Amino acid sequence: MSDNQNRDDPLAPYQHLLRGAFDVSPPTGWEPLVARLLARIEAALAPEERAEFRISQVKEKFAQLRVYHNGGEAIEALVDEADAEARRTCQVCGQPGRRQPGGWLAILCDEHNKRQF
Ligand SMILES: [Zn+2]
Repeated sequence: MSDNQNRDDPLAPYQHLLRGAFDVSPPTGWEPLVARLLARIEAALAPEERAEFRISQVKEKFAQLRVYHNGGEAIEALVDEADAEARRTCQVCGQPGRRQPGGWLAILCDEHNKRQF
């Protein structure tokens, strides 16, 4: 992972939490909420947990945010909150979105839902 990316990467400040990950590919519209999740995780980790904590994957699957990690229940609760937020956030632009009836298995705002067809 490079520090010289051309676009602003909301996840850049949290690379230390993602150092063991083999797949960090959240949809662009979800990157800000993933960044907020990582900030909350960082705050929730006890000092003795930090060295061992690993996230292996951050991605979208079946219109849900999936974060695979070796943390405990407190971390999982934060992931659940972020997933709940993701379910109302357009994957493309980050504006309010929803699973469109009859649409793609994705969370999209009305505008991006139209463009999918
Ligand atoms: Zn959108």
